[in-house]
Amino acid sequence: MRVPFSRLGSAPIAVKAAIDETLLEGELKRGTKELAFFSGRLTGKVKLNCDLCAEEYDCNLDEEIKLALCEGVFDGESEKIEEAIIECEDAIDCEEILRGEIASIKCDYHRCERCKANN
Ligand SMILES: [Zn+2]
Repeated sequence: MRVPFSRLGSAPIAVKAAIDETLLEGELKRGTKELAFFSGRLTGKVKLNCDLCAEEYDCNLDEEIKLALCEGVFDGESEKIEEAIIECEDAIDCEEILRGEIASIKCDYHRCERCKANN
């Protein structure tokens, strides 16, 4: 689902994206100037490899996601915005946001349930 910045008004737009077994649902709102804000939830499950035993396991997701989206290159002061800023071209691509969230989860350090229990 792609939402052009021009479609964003003061009323929030409900958006969702699904990739494999993950689901991102939430709403988009216009913020100040060139920014839009996404607030929602990431649920479902993703396959991860344990960093200790390298075993693949299913990780259940249930995370609150808050993002700031910028039309074009962000040239403001990012320290004034608490959300992570994602630069978009003319439209906000919800699948792209979801892909990014999954990629950042995969980059994190994780342990499978068995290694957690052994620690
Ligand atoms: Zn493990």
